[in-house]
Amino acid sequence: MLEEYKKKRDFSKTPEPSENKSQKLGQGLIYSIQEHHASHLHYDLRLEENGVLKSWAITKIPMNKQGIKRLAVQTEDHPLSYYNFEGEIPEGEYGAGTVHVWDLGTYILKEKKENLIKVEIKGKMLYGTFILVKLRSDPKNWLFFKS
Ligand code: MN
Repeated sequence: MLEEYKKKRDFSKTPEPSENKSQKLGQGLIYSIQEHHASHLHYDLRLEENGVLKSWAITKIPMNKQGIKRLAVQTEDHPLSYYNFEGEIPEGEYGAGTVHVWDLGTYILKEKKENLIKVEIKGKMLYGTFILVKLRSDPKNWLFFKS
């Protein structure tokens, strides 16, 4: 599941984690959002599932307010140890730019279908029930919003 993650990175150059170490944040599964100042500022949503972090790049700052929909583009699975990664990905490397943790906590899976994921997020910036809905136009494109 991490082949794509590994293929995109040169771990002799990037400080990002290369190994998948198991992590536990109390009860619930890992949830985090990383603010990533790459060529375009975006917010990387991470949700633990089956030993990896499912990942989406959210194109605008997520809001803890009902009805504000954000485009979330699914990206490659990341190792669990990525959830709190902060640092500088060097110029010339995949995702070059600064990464900060924007929000961190846990989540509970409420519902999962092929085109819909409903989660209860327990973070500091985001908390409550959030929904990811897959768009028909492109299977990588989802909408993320508070329900
Ligand atoms: Mn990113």
